[in-house]
Amino acid sequence: MSKISFDLISIFPDYFSPLKLSLIGKAQESDLISIAIHDLRDQAEGVHKSVDDTPYGGGAGMVMSPEPWGKAIDSVLENSEATEHDLIILTPAGEKLTQKIAEELSTREHLIFACGRYEGIDYRVTEYYQSAPGVRVRELSIGDYVLGGGEVATLVTMEAIIRLIPGVLGNPDSLVEESHSLPDEVVEYPNFTKPATWRGLPVPEVLLSGNHALIKSWREEQARIRTAKLHGELDGRTR
Ligand code: SAM
Repeated sequence: MSKISFDLISIFPDYFSPLKLSLIGKAQESDLISIAIHDLRDQAEGVHKSVDDTPYGGGAGMVMSPEPWGKAIDSVLENSEATEHDLIILTPAGEKLTQKIAEELSTREHLIFACGRYEGIDYRVTEYYQSAPGVRVRELSIGDYVLGGGEVATLVTMEAIIRLIPGVLGNPDSLVEESHSLPDEVVEYPNFTKPATWRGLPVPEVLLSGNHALIKSWREEQARIRTAKLHGELDGRTR
């Protein structure tokens, strides 16, 4: 599989320093992925390098102007050798990030992340690139709450994607039977490690039995209980 390249566009490039660490840092060192970070202000005009303006129709806050975004995205597209590009626009109004979406994006060639600030990015940026050849636009949200900007949402989305890329995890078996990727989107059973008793709490007896069939069925049952509990809570919240 060829290397996936990531281009991140933001007015706060320093937000991405954690990408040097841990799995994502190692994935770059091993040349499994490449990450380039772009400062949107480099595409802004004038002494103040302004990237926002007042909203048409009135209302509070400022909206990010389409021109610097258009220039930044065009420049990334022009400098890419990929034939297909996924432009991910982070917004709380987007489709909710799921394990399934992360899996889908982990198979792509080139991912561009557009991080909004203020009241978000002028919607014509989404519309324009929706009809640009070779570009797939995806508006993504990481949850039903509002962050100050798209940078943290980008870090979350990238971590979910990158750990699925073959070769990134030391032990690929870690991806088997994980929460949300299992059939029916069940969550994983609870995990335990040594010591066998901690602060008076013993590890469930069955896990010490060495009986793999019994352990398997206990874990399946625990996963079912946790999933039912989680879905019950979610239903309660949406009603
Ligand atoms: N006015 C927008 C609204 O009500 O939908 C909120 C804008 S928010 C303050 C600024 C930026 O943060 C957004 O453009 C987006 O890039 C990012 N953002 C905020 N919450 C997010 C979420 N839940 N998921 C993804 N991005 C988010």
